[in-house]
Amino acid sequence: MQTAFDFKQAADLQSIRNRLSVQFGKIPDGERLDPVSQFVCSFLGSRTYDQTSWDAFAGLVTRYQSWDAIADAPVDEIEALIRGVNYAERKASELKRALRDIRACYGRISFDFLVGLDIEQALFLLKQIHGVGPKIAAAILNFSTLRGRAFVVDTHVLRVLRRFGFVGANASTEAAYDAVMAAADDFDADGLRELHWYLKSLGQKICSHARALCASCPLSDICPQRAEKITALRASLAEPGLEKISTRIPLGHNGADLSLKGGLERGALHEIFATIGHEAAATGFTTGLAARVAPRKHLFWIRQDFSALEFGELSATGFLEFGIDPGRMLLLCVPDAAGALRAANDALSCAALGTVVIEIPGKPKILDLVASRRLTLASAQKTVTAFLLRFGAQPDASTAETRWLVRAAASPTQDENWGHPVFEAGLVRNRHGRTGQWVMEWSCDDGLFKEADSGAVVSAPCDRPAATAREAVAI
Ligand code: SF4
Repeated sequence: MQTAFDFKQAADLQSIRNRLSVQFGKIPDGERLDPVSQFVCSFLGSRTYDQTSWDAFAGLVTRYQSWDAIADAPVDEIEALIRGVNYAERKASELKRALRDIRACYGRISFDFLVGLDIEQALFLLKQIHGVGPKIAAAILNFSTLRGRAFVVDTHVLRVLRRFGFVGANASTEAAYDAVMAAADDFDADGLRELHWYLKSLGQKICSHARALCASCPLSDICPQRAEKITALRASLAEPGLEKISTRIPLGHNGADLSLKGGLERGALHEIFATIGHEAAATGFTTGLAARVAPRKHLFWIRQDFSALEFGELSATGFLEFGIDPGRMLLLCVPDAAGALRAANDALSCAALGTVVIEIPGKPKILDLVASRRLTLASAQKTVTAFLLRFGAQPDASTAETRWLVRAAASPTQDENWGHPVFEAGLVRNRHGRTGQWVMEWSCDDGLFKEADSGAVVSAPCDRPAATAREAVAI
């Protein structure tokens, strides 16, 4: 059996392509677009399903007769036509700006200036255009009628290359591009397109963001990550006392796990508070906690009827980003806080559930110490973890195991992606350990929290230090 696989050899890339072609068959002969159409299509396609971006592209070219017309159209009109794609508002204004940039630089909206340039030069010029990163630049060159020898690294391809160990776990799109191109001497433009399509299919269907189905993967016998998993499993099976399942689940963030003495307690009540304007961040943070605590069990989310209007709808795509399959999520809307607490107590008595999130805005009287104790007891009985998500409320006496104050923090953007979710998280109550405050980043690839690039520790928020200090000591 082959145990060492130097993936960075051209022959190995061929072998990968052959294995994946057996799994995924012949790639579809899609019609090649002209370079500007390809640019618009790729631009709309970022973080969006292919069919949705195609529909948006078709809507644009049907409505407008030329690229100039799009460049001169009102942003809200463009936005209305591409409404189905993710981040439509941002993409509408950035697409318009990019098209105007091209016209200003090259006299007209065309990529004719690329003809005859070598690939590196063409990539360089394309990346000077507003909104064009390495993925879109490579797509313009490789997928369009230009048929250039460039390799497109999208989020799926990057994830597979990282997990496979072809590039480092935190490698950028550029680093992955360079690594593949350095190993792909034998690949012509069509071969690179094919390799992209196969790796993307693997990333979408088997080595997905939510989970890696290694047992079904055609690369499993040569994938270092798979080998590591098996080694870790064997080691853990050999450990004495395995029969005692730990009730503390590591979050992945060293500082937080240290304070939590190994991780977040399962079968307990945890409170997450958000001030006005930070509800989405607290929702994301809570989703990350739920994904860590019970990744394979159902998540039961309780909110009030008006919550969608006031705080926004819960997004299935967002849950996927946190590794939670929307198919394993149950949503219940109730008229008021009393209904939410009643439903939560019932749900916590169902051992088939992994976590229950109870979203309660404001400070209803019914949510007192007695209600908190009931939730704690119900949670402990069947080891179903309860997360009480509080919006616009001041912390009060409760029996919660931990209490967090969460605010949104800036994500470092990555190429065409919007970056991973980053949170300012204050652990202001911890019944069995120290409190602390950190900048925590959710790693979509690894399904855990980690230290954010911007620094691991933050001071008390400058806009309400006194309140934070009070919250920290009063509990
Ligand atoms: S074996 Fe697992 S981790 Fe490796 S590429 Fe396949 S699915 Fe991804």
